[in-house]
Amino acid sequence: MKLKFCGAAGTTTGSQHLLEVNGQRILLDCGLYQGRRKDAYEINCCFPHFDPATIDSVVLSHAHIDHSGNLPNLTSKGFNGNIYATFATRDLCQIMLADSARIQKSDTDWVNKRRKKENLPPLEPLYSVQDAEQCNRQFVNMGYNRAMHIGKGVKLTFLDAGHILGSAQVLLEVEDEEDGKTKRFLFSGDVGRGNNDLLRDPVIAENIDYLLMESTYGGREHELGTQADEQVAEILRQAIDRGGKIIIPAFAVERTQQLLYVLYQLFRNDEIPDIPVYVDSPLAVNATEIFRLHPECFNEEVYQVLFDKQNPFGFEGLTLIRSVAKSKELNAQDQQAIIISASGMCEAGRILHHLKNGIENPKNTILFVGYCAENTLGSKIREGKEKVRIFGEEYKLRANVEKMDSFSGHADHSELIDYFNAMSGPRKKVWLVHGETSRSEKMCDALTQIHDGEVSVAELGKEVIF
Ligand SMILES: [Zn+2]
Ligand SMILES: [Zn+2]
Repeated sequence: MKLKFCGAAGTTTGSQHLLEVNGQRILLDCGLYQGRRKDAYEINCCFPHFDPATIDSVVLSHAHIDHSGNLPNLTSKGFNGNIYATFATRDLCQIMLADSARIQKSDTDWVNKRRKKENLPPLEPLYSVQDAEQCNRQFVNMGYNRAMHIGKGVKLTFLDAGHILGSAQVLLEVEDEEDGKTKRFLFSGDVGRGNNDLLRDPVIAENIDYLLMESTYGGREHELGTQADEQVAEILRQAIDRGGKIIIPAFAVERTQQLLYVLYQLFRNDEIPDIPVYVDSPLAVNATEIFRLHPECFNEEVYQVLFDKQNPFGFEGLTLIRSVAKSKELNAQDQQAIIISASGMCEAGRILHHLKNGIENPKNTILFVGYCAENTLGSKIREGKEKVRIFGEEYKLRANVEKMDSFSGHADHSELIDYFNAMSGPRKKVWLVHGETSRSEKMCDALTQIHDGEVSVAELGKEVIF
């Protein structure tokens, strides 16, 4: 067996790992590298580590764009095989890849403006909405814990990863023809924290011989536990008392639905006053509808709520907004409301209009529920900068700013160590991916101290044989 690290090595984005076994080439994830526009385009466009036409099949851990986002490019460049994924991952990909295609187009337009000034020929977007749609036809779906042969001597099982809806750990049972041995190989995908508001805990894998593991939070711990509903309630109560709007920038997939579930519970238990809630983002609205269709992904509590014929993603007082006209109406109204809109880092999307209209009113609250990368508008508001620019104009930050960081989808350092310790099997080799190099190294040091097998940080472009 051979494994080549083709992305998410020394960084957290662009997850792609190429496994070769019994003459077949299986690609684990086909993520988009997300970084500076210019570098990103070059890294994503032409698959420097393999020829797409030579790949036999893809196994996809989950729908996040850093794991799935380059699939339409892979299929349009000649990959013709099956893409194995869970049902929910496939449904989320259907909307997320199309959305990504639109972002590719606007990013390329931006790059091309610069290129024109430098007399360079324009670049083509990585893929179109049509490419994304075509790519969705190559999906083959599997439920959790259903083993299936996906090639000669290769059996695939998806295990819960507790990270986002549909997320999975990838277990491959291989009859290796080269040495006649049976090997159990696990790719962790992204590992959740456990105790998630919506999802089941990551499953503990057994008898693992070889492990490819994420290390996003190597050396870092989350400040808060996972169950922080009381804290959200307190922030919301105070914000409602101020009399203004509560504007929540949130990622369209998972974070928005987690928030909706928390709000559903708070309203149901009369813990906060009844005020209207709006989700104003077409992607978030589409994702919310997909969540309702996948009871197989939820923890016992949410599962029971769904089976009591209640809909935590469509409760009374919640309005889902798709159309631009309705979004504008919402902007114009003064009524007190909770408005959840994307993008979570305030870099694009309808959240910008809500911020523009609401940021100078001291009665309003802007509530952050997720991470914002450096230099984004979201990070500037989070830091409490006096003035920020929105659509090229300067605005004074007078609204109250609150932060809630308990919703992370990633296990922290201790939680990853617990995940590793709970697993059984010799784990003769462990490769760490999906982390900045310093993070992966910290995880490597920690694992080396507690484990006899060989632990190493994956290097981009390197191949290992086992
Ligand atoms: Zn992820
Ligand atoms: Zn990821």
